[in-house]
Amino acid sequence: THFGFETVSEEEKGDKVYQVFESVAKKYDVMNDMMSLGIHRVWKDVLLWRMHPFPGTQLLDVAGGTGDIAFRFLNYIQAQHRRKQKRQLRTQQNLSWEEIAQKYQNEEDSLNGSHVVICDINKEMLKIGKKKACAQGYKTGLAWVLGDAEELPFDEDKFDVYTIAFGIRNVTHMDRALQEAHRVLKPGGRFLCLEFSQVDNPLVSKLYDLYSFQVIPVLGEVIAGNWKSYQYLVESIRKFPAQEEFKEMIEDAGFQKVTYESLSSGIVAIHSGFKL
Ligand code: SAM
Repeated sequence: THFGFETVSEEEKGDKVYQVFESVAKKYDVMNDMMSLGIHRVWKDVLLWRMHPFPGTQLLDVAGGTGDIAFRFLNYIQAQHRRKQKRQLRTQQNLSWEEIAQKYQNEEDSLNGSHVVICDINKEMLKIGKKKACAQGYKTGLAWVLGDAEELPFDEDKFDVYTIAFGIRNVTHMDRALQEAHRVLKPGGRFLCLEFSQVDNPLVSKLYDLYSFQVIPVLGEVIAGNWKSYQYLVESIRKFPAQEEFKEMIEDAGFQKVTYESLSSGIVAIHSGFKL
């Protein structure tokens, strides 16, 4: 495989990826905002809208890093719950204000049994995620697990939804990670992947190339003091299969009804599939 401008073996790729995320962990969130001009937030929101989790959903977020998808999931469930309570307030006049207020304050109650497990191979990324969770007041409904996407430390048929955002291109054997996703999902469960993809607009493609190769490594050096890691990022994005090819890989892992949606002219795509 190719790593930045170095050529490394398949075995070395895992170690290199580990080093990249270990070294950028502290600056990861700020770099994401700088490099994508904040747009990664919108892409992640769209992933949640597409998931549209129901109360009680058991989510596994693989390569979950600093928890962006997990926090969005918990916010989504809580917002859903609040909307429902407001409707109840209007219709069930017999509920007192105290009762409503109490329910609002009960965080566990507002999750309706929904739960997210954030699994990542890098303990530095998880450490930052846990700190963020404390700082932002997420106490229940989430668990942090150190684990490899290629060999998930979970029983089969366990989760309703599996997400992987900007993670799968970093995995050495994508086919194994996809098979693992299939194994741990319950029958009827859904796979959702948000990943960089192939740009379908020639003008956007030109600008994107210019930005990726000229600006991103410079930002990496200035903000995170790490040119090479961000050069790797750009290279790994270019090597990732296009929408149709990745769709076939997901089907090969056993998923059905596989579809995808390109966002921002194909800079990223959301792939979806079901274990039926
Ligand atoms: N999902 C987060 C987000 O969207 O902000 C983090 C994405 S970050 C670009 C990629 C993450 O993949 C890193 O946290 C890295 O440690 C993790 N990763 C790389 N290889 C992995 C593997 N084999 N198993 C699990 N996580 C892995």
